[in-house]
Amino acid sequence: MMRLPRFRYLAPGSVAEAAAALADLGPEAAVLAGGTDLFPNMKRRQQTPATVVALRGIAALRARAIDPARGLTLGALTRLSAIEHDAGIAAAWPALARAASLVATPPLRNMGTIGGNLCLDTRCSYYDQSHEWRAAIGYCMKKEGETCWVAPSSPRCWAVSSSDTAPVLCALGAEVTLASTAGERRIPASELFADDGIAYLTRRRDEILTSVHVPPPAEGERSAYVKLRRRGSFDFPVLGVAVRARLDAGGTVTSASIFVGGTGSRPQEARAAAELLTGRVLDAAAIREAAGLIAHIAKPMQNTDFTLGWRKAVAREYAARALRELVAGNGAAANHASGS
Ligand SMILES: Cc1cc2nc3c(=O)[nH]c(=O)nc-3n(C[C@H](O)[C@H](O)[C@H](O)COP(=O)(O)OP(=O)(O)OC[C@H]3O[C@@H](n4cnc5c(N)ncnc54)[C@H](O)[C@@H]3O)c2cc1C
Ligand code: SF4
Repeated sequence: MMRLPRFRYLAPGSVAEAAAALADLGPEAAVLAGGTDLFPNMKRRQQTPATVVALRGIAALRARAIDPARGLTLGALTRLSAIEHDAGIAAAWPALARAASLVATPPLRNMGTIGGNLCLDTRCSYYDQSHEWRAAIGYCMKKEGETCWVAPSSPRCWAVSSSDTAPVLCALGAEVTLASTAGERRIPASELFADDGIAYLTRRRDEILTSVHVPPPAEGERSAYVKLRRRGSFDFPVLGVAVRARLDAGGTVTSASIFVGGTGSRPQEARAAAELLTGRVLDAAAIREAAGLIAHIAKPMQNTDFTLGWRKAVAREYAARALRELVAGNGAAANHASGS
């Protein structure tokens, strides 16, 4: 059994108190939300904070509101299960409800929060192992070592962004608010992520992600999310395709935004595919062409589940499925699982 290391537990009652603690403690502190990512990481000694700053006592971070003019506001502590089961979210932003429903398992979705899902650590087969396993290979660049075993001549880490909601929130044009003792800043969700497996967030260490803001859907807007993983009841995504598009009365796409998760260190925008679809009707030919461009973005490395060749080959099919789900209009992309 893997045990947690010793740590100090702080339970601030407000964002201001939590921000002050982070400013005071510096890199030795970590923020705790549901703990479904942080605690396993601490057991594996991937993260070893001397102090954990728990947000769960801050009631303001649990707020959840839908406003016709302002859209959806989610406090960072909103549980994934609450998003999954919110009929208003499912109606207006079906891809978000779907992505939340596909994270992990029901008990983990009851603990896991939207803030924690966005700030989730990046993943890699050489990193998500016990401390002993990692010690046996001399660790790796992401923690305690020097070499990247995925790309030994690479100067950077290629660990993968494996959040289900991150690509969806990017595609929906969401924003996030970050708070520190210096004040608040609000940035596009897509700018929260950096293309680096180690420094994978632009969030500063002293900042708390306090809320997520999703704009109201425009008339004719639809969204969909599909996820590839080995076990349909359990696993992290090795590919996630999030699509938002606005269709006019004749079915022509007037705007689109597409992001891919699970294949890079940050959600990757498939801008060329979105541009190709704009002005087109989503017929079989348009879907085929766009799916090819989306698959071109999804360039996986050999550091997650499944063989590399199979993942590359199947990416086009999953991209097409996301677009077909968009046409179907229910946003409820199937939870496809497959093995190779
Ligand atoms: C078996 C298993 C399967 C899983 N499968 C999936 C999956 O399929 N898809 C998926 O997306 N995730 C999956 N997860 C990961 C995790 O359960 C979810 O991502 C969850 O949403 C994390 O939220 P949390 O509140 O528990 O985060 P925590 O563990 O509390 O925190 C995660 C990280 O974010 C930071 N953090 C948390 N909240 C904030 C905040 N408000 N401000 C700043 N930093 C913050 C923490 O410091 C930590 O680094 C899985 C986990 C397990 C154990
Ligand atoms: S991509 Fe390389 S450096 Fe990053 S976690 Fe994996 S092996 Fe380590």
